[in-house]
Amino acid sequence: MLTVEGLNAHYGKSHILQGVSLTVGAGELVTLLGRNGAGKTTTLRAIMRLLPPTGGRVAFMGQDLAGMPTHAIARLGLAMVPEHRGIFSLLSVRENLEIAVDAKSPWQIEDVFGLFPRLAERRRNLGSRLSGGEQQMLAIARALVSGPRLLLLDEPTEGLAPVIVNELVETFRRIRDQGTAILLVEQNLAVCMKLGDRHTIIDLGRTVYEGSAADFAADEAVKDRYLTLR
Ligand code: ATP
Repeated sequence: MLTVEGLNAHYGKSHILQGVSLTVGAGELVTLLGRNGAGKTTTLRAIMRLLPPTGGRVAFMGQDLAGMPTHAIARLGLAMVPEHRGIFSLLSVRENLEIAVDAKSPWQIEDVFGLFPRLAERRRNLGSRLSGGEQQMLAIARALVSGPRLLLLDEPTEGLAPVIVNELVETFRRIRDQGTAILLVEQNLAVCMKLGDRHTIIDLGRTVYEGSAADFAADEAVKDRYLTLR
């Protein structure tokens, strides 16, 4: 459903993405791995055209995204949950969801409250009064009620306690199993290995590895080469 080929992107004169290729099929959970600064966040931003690419091709549901504004890409069914969450601190949990919900989404507000019972308990709390983990849950819930076909998640477990990380892992599995595909940017290798149907690694702005869960699990050399600190 998502095909990225030879993606290039610049920040000013810095040539950050120099050939990122990846695919996500319907109902798949694909991970995007790489060291700090490899270009993972930039890849998500370039797919959404928040940073318009300077080369390569991105297609979603068979449609070339070249020239499209980000809001039109979102309407096709791509939703990005950014690293710093961006929820409205002066609105309640429920209000944050109400402004995002699409009546046609398979995920309505009561459904995401079923997925995240903690949010249901805190539905009247202001966004500013949530813990980091709860804010992350709300950001994901808000993306889901907009009815995406594919969720782009940027380091959703970063800085969260292990018990919350485990809850999120289960939740991502349920989201995928109910038919919403996920492209997951994640530094936590254990999380990636629990969840990924396939894995993609980028290094210095280029795709250097794509493999199935089984191939990646068996390949210690690739993990040492691209994912450990140099
Ligand atoms: P991390 O895991 O640290 O978030 P990442 O793989 O997501 O890393 P990016 O955030 O995509 O990496 O950054 C890729 C490169 O682009 C880095 O060298 C970074 O310094 C640079 N960069 C990121 N954002 C900007 C920006 N707004 N302006 C200029 N350079 C940027």
